[in-house]
Amino acid sequence: MDPIGTFGASPYAVRDLQLFRDADDPAVTAALAPCTVLRVAAGQRVEDGLRARLYIVLSGTLEVAPDAHSGNEDTGVTHVLPGESVGEQAVLDDAVNLAAMTALEDCELLVIEPELVWQLIDRSNVLARNLLRLLSFRVRAANAQLRRRQKLGEFYRQLSLNDGLTGLYNRAWLNEMLPKLAARAGQDGSPLSVIMIDLDHFKRFNDTHGHIAGDAALSAAANIIRESLRPSDFAVRYGGEELMAVLPDTQTGLAEMVAQRLAERLRTAIVFPDMRLPLPHITGSFGVASLPLGGTEHELVAAADAALYRAKQAGRDRVSI
Ligand code: GH3
Ligand code: MG
Ligand code: MG
Repeated sequence: MDPIGTFGASPYAVRDLQLFRDADDPAVTAALAPCTVLRVAAGQRVEDGLRARLYIVLSGTLEVAPDAHSGNEDTGVTHVLPGESVGEQAVLDDAVNLAAMTALEDCELLVIEPELVWQLIDRSNVLARNLLRLLSFRVRAANAQLRRRQKLGEFYRQLSLNDGLTGLYNRAWLNEMLPKLAARAGQDGSPLSVIMIDLDHFKRFNDTHGHIAGDAALSAAANIIRESLRPSDFAVRYGGEELMAVLPDTQTGLAEMVAQRLAERLRTAIVFPDMRLPLPHITGSFGVASLPLGGTEHELVAAADAALYRAKQAGRDRVSI
């Protein structure tokens, strides 16, 4: 990175600089004439000692990463081409310039000290106007990028809370939400019930029909359960072939009726409409429990698990409380 002379002695003209476009004022030309022109070799960093300065690319391409600490992992990296500037915001709000600037190819840069920027703003309306336009463009671009990132963040969050095979909520969702639902029920004194569901002899189903048919059956069971619940209920894949229905504002008696309905629908569902083989049916065992007074979500799940165990012991394809 070497100073190679002044702007006045260089072959470049003021009218080629975006910020000074339409500012054919001899006073501006004269003010810029003594400014330093730097040469930065390809691959080299522009070391500006963290002082806010305005840089205008005269030739070559400069790569700018928004913040030296954020690295290149986000897409905020921009390429600054001849005539374009970088650092104007740092100059205007007198902040340390944290942008990391690297020459992508050999560059020549015009360096304008902040004092001169302010003098030129005072002197040239055109510069002030160009600067405002540029800043407005930058704010718009930054906002658009922020919105894209928010959307992406929400997308990944959804992805991380849903099970890929069945589309139901997953265990991570349950771990986050069940304590909240239990706390709310405790505060409001409203009932909260869960139905723990385990498909019957599912190992045998896999062994007989294959794992792919097993996956399809699991998906079908998940759909049946999701479609049988009220919009205020939640269907969760607890793990493997274990599913769970979470029923806010629901007493044990009603939860048991819901479980009976689910058992019936599962038992009679046509899982594979176009199978040439004898139709494999699926059934499930259901354990129903409600949040005990002053109890925790752990006690609730343990109670549902114990009820499910009783349903299995009693012969499967049934509901226990
Ligand atoms: P039980 O009636 O006592 O519940 O018998 P089971 O065979 O269902 O019980 P077990 O827990 O021993 O086996 C569960 C089986 O579910 C074993 C496993 O291969 C199968 N399974 C779990 N998750 C999946 C899945 O995502 N896809 C398929 N195809 N099978 C799964
Ligand atoms: Mg199981
Ligand atoms: Mg099972």
